[in-house]
Amino acid sequence: MVSKDQIYDILREVDDPELHRPITDLGMVENVNIDNSTVAVKIKLTIPGCPMKARISDDITNKLESLEGVNKVEIEFGSMNDEERAKLRQQLMPGAKAEDDSPNLDFVKEIICVASGKGGVGKSTVTANLAAALSELGLKVGVLDADVYGFSIPRMLGVTGQPTIIDNMIIPPERNGIKLVSMGLFLDEDTPVIWRGPLLHKTVQQFMTDVHWDKLDVMLVDLPPGTGDITITVAQKMSKARLLVVTTPQKAASNVALRVGKMAEKVELGVLGVIENMSFFQLPDGSKEYVFGQGGGSEVADILNTSVFAEIPLDSELRQASDEGNPIIWSEKDSPARQAYLKCADRLKLELKL
Ligand code: ADP
Repeated sequence: MVSKDQIYDILREVDDPELHRPITDLGMVENVNIDNSTVAVKIKLTIPGCPMKARISDDITNKLESLEGVNKVEIEFGSMNDEERAKLRQQLMPGAKAEDDSPNLDFVKEIICVASGKGGVGKSTVTANLAAALSELGLKVGVLDADVYGFSIPRMLGVTGQPTIIDNMIIPPERNGIKLVSMGLFLDEDTPVIWRGPLLHKTVQQFMTDVHWDKLDVMLVDLPPGTGDITITVAQKMSKARLLVVTTPQKAASNVALRVGKMAEKVELGVLGVIENMSFFQLPDGSKEYVFGQGGGSEVADILNTSVFAEIPLDSELRQASDEGNPIIWSEKDSPARQAYLKCADRLKLELKL
């Protein structure tokens, strides 16, 4: 007959799919009963009706059934009580601070705030594709969508469904290893902005203090366009963040740069560089057509005393891929935009020593 120790050894190999820790460490194994070759396990889910229930059940069953002497596995599910959830939160986020305090940012090596002077320049597209490209390089990436009025990152990264919340701790859903929190995961895009308004600040605060990111190499923050309140709040709280400014190639983008520059100065954030988006259209013969003119990126970079980090071409496949929730980085087909993003991610990785 198998022993309890053997069963616990196996259960230690089963991770909670959202928290990525062994279920034994998370206090999820309530008890184990062995009756000849039948093993009964009682599991406490973090929340009742946890969407990961079937997966946890399959993982446990498959592992235990491979053990010699086990013919049948019975799993009973219960759920943690409030006290146990509070304990779990404390275990996972021991350094968490109160909402109005500065967040504890020890979990992440680098924070990049993606900013733009105005909407429609491709800021969110840059955030989503850079996240995918950095993750493709093997980095642990999180995205905080602070563009609360125009949240589009969930759609671009193809993340749906409400996050699991354990004692006010938000577990960010993942896609291809990229973790994401966004107002869009709680509301849909049709929710009138007027209803979102009062929730905004509180939600953004919560996104900074109450999310279990675990360990990240880099967090990308999609800031709202312009230099409004939310941008300043986020930037002020994220003291170690650096700004990446997205602009288009039109000249006269300088007023935009000045605004972003002033904001960076005010909140004491360093500027990492400028990304010029929609820089050119690559014709089949390899030559470039400058659909929106030239020079905007370098003009902005000069004003901000930094350099142009990348030039992303106009690419209809990139737009389509974003609309479908599958960033072009994950596409099997290579393209100039995909290459530009991968090159940019490489450069970021190198310069930030990630
Ligand atoms: P912002 O966040 O600045 O408001 P978005 O990222 O939502 O802008 O982009 C606006 C639109 O432009 C989207 O439809 C997006 O797919 C498209 N887009 C962004 N960058 C490119 C590009 N390089 N080539 C083609 N379309 C792009």
